[in-house]
Amino acid sequence: MQIFHSPSVLQKEALLRKRRGETIGFVPTMGALHSGHTSLFDIARERCDWLVCSIFVNPLQFGENEDLDQYPSDFEGDRQKCLEHGVDAILFPREFYNPDHSSYIRVETLSQGLCGGNRPTHFEGVTTVVARLFGFVQPDIAVFGQKDYQQLAIIRRMVRDLAMPIEIIGGELIREQSGLALSSRNRYLSPEDKRRGLTLSLALREVIRLYKEDGIQNVTTLKSKALKKLNVDELDYLEIVDCDSLKPLEQIKDKARVLIAAKVGGTRLIDNMEVSR
Ligand code: AMP
Repeated sequence: MQIFHSPSVLQKEALLRKRRGETIGFVPTMGALHSGHTSLFDIARERCDWLVCSIFVNPLQFGENEDLDQYPSDFEGDRQKCLEHGVDAILFPREFYNPDHSSYIRVETLSQGLCGGNRPTHFEGVTTVVARLFGFVQPDIAVFGQKDYQQLAIIRRMVRDLAMPIEIIGGELIREQSGLALSSRNRYLSPEDKRRGLTLSLALREVIRLYKEDGIQNVTTLKSKALKKLNVDELDYLEIVDCDSLKPLEQIKDKARVLIAAKVGGTRLIDNMEVSR
């Protein structure tokens, strides 16, 4: 497995491989890897010749009072997981943006609600870093987790709108056995906070149960009943939206996505599930 600290050296290698007709697969991450990330490696591994993982905590996507400085890192653990899951190259850049970087990508409507409501500059940071990473890695396919459902929709839209010849694949959300969605930030949670964090998934499951078993379709009713399952410090949002446009629904007809974000003991957690018959 190769480790690249220089994005432009990796880019040379990528271009060489493309000329030889190899298929490049890519999984961008911020490190502190867990089984959610490695599940994406497994999906990509089957579909490419050369599998690249990037590990870069992107300052552009963090707001002023967020946890950029405390974001967990464990390069040795990450390297081991990459090795075990067949990653061919890790991009672990020492420097990433030019000092005079001045190009930003904004995917408008999809970025506005949900996490974009509470983190107004977040998705612009995400799309900008992903586009720049795509430029270095030159992937044919890139795999993103449904854990970040809104992010996945935004990346798909960016790739479509900017005609990037890259297939975007969404990997299923991976959970702990308890049901808590795996996240690099879970390592900040005390055992008690983990129990409270689990209530995010309980609230989502309650929406699904009320829709499927009790036949409740009205979103206001579903939300107010589901909120009773929550035990968190601060709710950012609980929303039931159209699976593609991410627009809030008033009624669930056949299918919807329910998404939640909340803080538990200072740690911001997100989760989402499909609601269908
Ligand atoms: P991050 O390192 O948090 O930026 O995440 C890198 C990629 O891993 C993103 O595409 C995330 O959606 C994905 N990911 C993170 N956690 C999970 C999870 N529990 N299940 C599936 N994918 C995940």
